[in-house]
Amino acid sequence: MDVKLFIEDLRSRFPNEPEYLQAVEEVVNSIADVYSQYPAFDRVNLLERLCIPDRIYTFRVSWVDDNGRVRNNMGYRVQHNNAIGPYKGGIRFHSSVNLSILKFLAFEQTFKNSLTTLAMGGAKGGSDFSPRGKSDMEIMRFCQAFVNELYRHIGPDTDVPAGDIGVGGREVGYMFGWYKKMTREFTGTFTGKGLDFGGSLIRPEATGYGNVYFLQNMLATRDIDVKDKRVAISGSGNVALYTAEKLLSLGAKVISFSDSDGSIVVPEGITQEQFEEIFDLKTLYRGRISEFAEKHPDVCKYFPRERPWKHVEKVDIAMPSATQNELDGDDARALLAAGCFAVSEGANMPSTPEAIAEFQKARILYAPGKAANAGGVSVSGLEMAQNAQMMHWTAEEVDNRLRDIMADIHTQCVKYGTDEDGYVNYVRGANTAGFLKVARAMMAQGVV
Ligand code: NDP
Repeated sequence: MDVKLFIEDLRSRFPNEPEYLQAVEEVVNSIADVYSQYPAFDRVNLLERLCIPDRIYTFRVSWVDDNGRVRNNMGYRVQHNNAIGPYKGGIRFHSSVNLSILKFLAFEQTFKNSLTTLAMGGAKGGSDFSPRGKSDMEIMRFCQAFVNELYRHIGPDTDVPAGDIGVGGREVGYMFGWYKKMTREFTGTFTGKGLDFGGSLIRPEATGYGNVYFLQNMLATRDIDVKDKRVAISGSGNVALYTAEKLLSLGAKVISFSDSDGSIVVPEGITQEQFEEIFDLKTLYRGRISEFAEKHPDVCKYFPRERPWKHVEKVDIAMPSATQNELDGDDARALLAAGCFAVSEGANMPSTPEAIAEFQKARILYAPGKAANAGGVSVSGLEMAQNAQMMHWTAEEVDNRLRDIMADIHTQCVKYGTDEDGYVNYVRGANTAGFLKVARAMMAQGVV
């Protein structure tokens, strides 16, 4: 297979979708060798069918704001691939959402879900609606209007959405409520639901905790303990906060957070008490990270409109947990110069291709999001299993399964990603393992 020609062709067909092309190019480059080993794949044009989504729904979402004004947003659901299970993937509400971003996320999700070993295909959806600054009632009306269109295309065995940026327990609750009303069915069609109506314990924590479990597996390959390590985190949402919570419980030092307005750096590491303050600030009061800096100028520095990477002077580990392409080549070089020896991605595709190349060239431990942040969708899968059985597992049970799944994903990465010199290329490992399972299922099911 000629990778260059393949990418050029996609580029000419989807010229305005840079994030989608970036994600596809990374995967295709890293699976090209293994793809060529199976000529039967190419005879049925499997790669192209795997890269182009099964279908995409696009719709207008009209809703009424608190001033009685009618507002219009775009809504999307990208159903990428259901070869190994029902479509599954989060919903993102953010002003930056467009089709390119959702197509990249749905594509990545397909490989990630395959890696979890659970029966879930890949999808993603969302809207350019921003919950920031909106009242609770506005958010509820928006969620209802969004689901008014979406409900036709989803279902417990069809497509099961969850949260993502801008969509947490509150939004999932509103969407589930309206879905239930429209279908007159109580099913496990959304995950990330409230505990009282089918949600799973540990789901809110799962992506962050899972990323730390993955990190521990990576560190173990070099006999390193996470205790006392200095960890730079970006973001201060669901993933970032639970990553920090788990790291603190393991004795690591968390030295940064960010949001879309700027970053804080706490050189000595935040205390448990300060973490709880940040947690409440972001979750209860939906405040800005700058408010913490204003209150604690003695321990922390604030960098408006900046990402944290160039401002952490001494760092062991980076865990980008905000958004795509938030860590570029310059950031990677700054991190390496500051001593960083491991990067484990909480966000989806946070490192640019140039940054990844820097990490790999330096032979540091580098885990792409599709492996390291798969804990969230894994526990979503466990939520679906509990819903189907009408059971509720204990937190310990779910957490143990999460640990096992992350360890298993790590093993798959090592199996398919180990270079001749022993260096583990987690990108190639994750892409190859994720790809092979989906490819085998697609081959068995014929051209559909
Ligand atoms: P949240 O909405 O809870 O938090 C997102 C955080 O990132 C916020 O601090 C937000 O700042 C910041 N952020 C968002 N967009 C930007 C931007 N364009 N520039 C700078 N900062 C930004 O989302 P999650 O924590 O759920 O998601 C974070 C990442 O993790 C995403 O890449 C998501 O796809 C990925 N992920 C999430 C999973 C989950 O279970 N939730 C599962 C797997 C991956 P602000 O508050 O200012 O918007």
